[in-house]
Amino acid sequence: MRKIVSLVPVGLLIACSLFAAPPSVPLSEKGTSKEPQIQLAIHDPKLPLVVVVATGGTIAEKRSAKTGGSVPALSGTDLVAAVPELSKFANIGVVNFSNIDSSHMAPENWAKLSRTVDRVLAKPEVTGVVVTHGTDTMAEGSFFLDLTLKSNKPVVFTGAMRDASSPAPDGPGNILDAVTQVISKNATNWGVTVTLNQYVNAAQYVRKTQTTNVQTFESGEKGYLGYVFNGEVTRFNDCLKRRKIPLTEPLPSVSFLTTYAGDDGRFVRYAVDRGAKGIVIDSLGAGNVNAKTFEAVLYALSKQIPVVITSIVWEGAVEPSYGDVGGGADLLKHGCILSRPEDLGGPKARILLMVALAKYGNDTKKLQEIFNY
Ligand code: ASP
Repeated sequence: MRKIVSLVPVGLLIACSLFAAPPSVPLSEKGTSKEPQIQLAIHDPKLPLVVVVATGGTIAEKRSAKTGGSVPALSGTDLVAAVPELSKFANIGVVNFSNIDSSHMAPENWAKLSRTVDRVLAKPEVTGVVVTHGTDTMAEGSFFLDLTLKSNKPVVFTGAMRDASSPAPDGPGNILDAVTQVISKNATNWGVTVTLNQYVNAAQYVRKTQTTNVQTFESGEKGYLGYVFNGEVTRFNDCLKRRKIPLTEPLPSVSFLTTYAGDDGRFVRYAVDRGAKGIVIDSLGAGNVNAKTFEAVLYALSKQIPVVITSIVWEGAVEPSYGDVGGGADLLKHGCILSRPEDLGGPKARILLMVALAKYGNDTKKLQEIFNY
């Protein structure tokens, strides 16, 4: 007998008929119809309960003859239905959070996602959560949740590089591996991970490295956390260092831009004049900008706008190695925050600055501490 379970109130089991569509119930105790609903199908109370929170991305897309490209097509409920093997080792709940390509994700979406995932994880019956998400901004979205989630239960982001109408979609296998990871005893205390194509990456280090290949997520010199194969997780590494900042809203506007040879600093000035509350600059090499960009940085600092220096180079940190105008040592001396001892990269540094500013305000010492942790 398959049971359909409502988590509201917690622990109340409502038995429904086999194969009946699970009812939607509010996720929060005082839920309104506008809040994401949770659908739970408990077919074996002895098995762990994993909730899939679906946000969209290629995993939920299909080729459209009308547009000539992939477009949102499948709900989270459809994604789970495509992996019947899941029922052998888990009960699966679904939250149809959104269905958007992740290029349309914004920090406000991730703030709402973080609150939603925390509400799901707060239910004692839930072992962990799988978030399905587009790969384009998965590295940033997973890092946002890694920073802000209150719960320490496992959260695995996954997605797909091939859409659901492809002859060999990678989505179903990735969901299977993600659920496997959530319930595995070998996969504890990793924080939020990005798990695709069997490799487990820490949210803080992961980057998308290939535009179209299923093996796109890498952790570079930091290394994978583990590997999922045939229902088992092999643990390679612990995730010893994670920043946690309580989610505070509203999130301030933080600009991220890249410098380049011949930059005249106009984009830094533009960000200042348009009211940015913080600026992240992907600098050159170990942390250098040219003289004109340096002048623009001084302009930002003179308006008490924190400036974080990251690097366009993937590996290594931003260091105070160069002492001439706009070199890392000069930027540090004038009050910039260098992204070290490891460089998070511009997009993630932007998330960190945004979340930190929202919680602590423009407190230079505190921001230094958070970045240089
Ligand atoms: N454009 C897609 C997205 O990020 C790419 C993917 O999911 O693989 O939503």
